[in-house]
Amino acid sequence: MTEHFETRSAHGGGTEGDRGAISFPIFQTSTYKAGGEFSYSRCQNPTRKELEHTVARLEEGAYGFAFSSGLAAVTVVFSLLKAGDHVLVSDDLYGGTYRLIREIWSRFGIDFTFADLREPERAECHLRPNTRLIFAETPTNPMMKVLPLARLASLAADHGALLAVDNTFLTPYYQKPLTLGADIVVHSGTKFLSGHHDTVCGFLVTSSEELAERIALISKTLGNAAAPFDSWLALRGIQTLPVRMEQHTANAHAAATYLEAHPRVEKVFYPGLSSHPSYELMKKQTSGAGGVLSFLLKDDGVEKVLNGGKLIRFAESLGGTTSLITYPQTQTHASVPKDVREKIGITPRLLRLSLGLEHIEDLLSDLEQMLSRK
Ligand SMILES: *Cc1c(COP(=O)(O)O)cnc(C)c1O
Repeated sequence: MTEHFETRSAHGGGTEGDRGAISFPIFQTSTYKAGGEFSYSRCQNPTRKELEHTVARLEEGAYGFAFSSGLAAVTVVFSLLKAGDHVLVSDDLYGGTYRLIREIWSRFGIDFTFADLREPERAECHLRPNTRLIFAETPTNPMMKVLPLARLASLAADHGALLAVDNTFLTPYYQKPLTLGADIVVHSGTKFLSGHHDTVCGFLVTSSEELAERIALISKTLGNAAAPFDSWLALRGIQTLPVRMEQHTANAHAAATYLEAHPRVEKVFYPGLSSHPSYELMKKQTSGAGGVLSFLLKDDGVEKVLNGGKLIRFAESLGGTTSLITYPQTQTHASVPKDVREKIGITPRLLRLSLGLEHIEDLLSDLEQMLSRK
């Protein structure tokens, strides 16, 4: 039976819990009696398996994998490559992924090219005979650029490369990259999927049996799979994903509209606004714009705005029940070199806002008083 997304979220993998438990249990064990389905928790664990099955179903993929963090998931994607391979990466991307590429993977003989992937035909000139992977994030973090997934998928396929898409910002509730032709979906499950600022985890989903076999081997070999308790927290968070996403997005729309009209705000980056350059593409390939936006202040009074929130706290991360404001320059994107940051648009006046589940009137009055501080 093909249930709706909300039903799949609420019921998770749907496996009968131990002794009829309705909440799927935490199998807090490192090892198992020999000869059964499970042998050792680095390789498999029932709670993690239930979570992997849940995330795979939500993404409409066949195989899911849960890791100890989003970056652990990205590490597994790059572990599919070998020295001499080339990767095309979207230039505007999560700072930690950028650091992983620069500090680790480029030291192992893999070449990376960063490019604006909004126009795949223009990005094509960066492809080489040894390009094995295109790695994209959409909307991008933090500039909220929207990349055309179906066109990137055909570009990758034409060149015999894989397309991996980081779907952290929208989650499968709003965007399903596999259905648009991507080979692998990547998640920081720390954000909207788990959704409560209480756990760190990551996911990969694919429909390719061959990729799934390689990912399973890499995961058990690297030893970076999600722990049972973190898996359980993610499973619990996912049960309410659809209702949370609706509220995050409604709040983001209202905050974006408010900020766009504010005299201290130069520009708002939110693909749900009709003023966003990729508004039409966004409507075509997703069913919602999500709960994150960025905005540019007109003046240098960033510090007081960041620290002035009563509800909106100044902290890294996004996608949780409470709103957070982030300063990309010194937080999420501190490891991106200054010239690259400036080229992308991560300037000293750029702020990123993740809208939580608070009442919008309370959030708007908090924004109002934050923006009155100079
Ligand atoms: C946070 C984040 C990551 C990294 O995930 P962790 O769970 O922090 O390791 C990757 N991509 C995006 C878009 C993120 O926001």
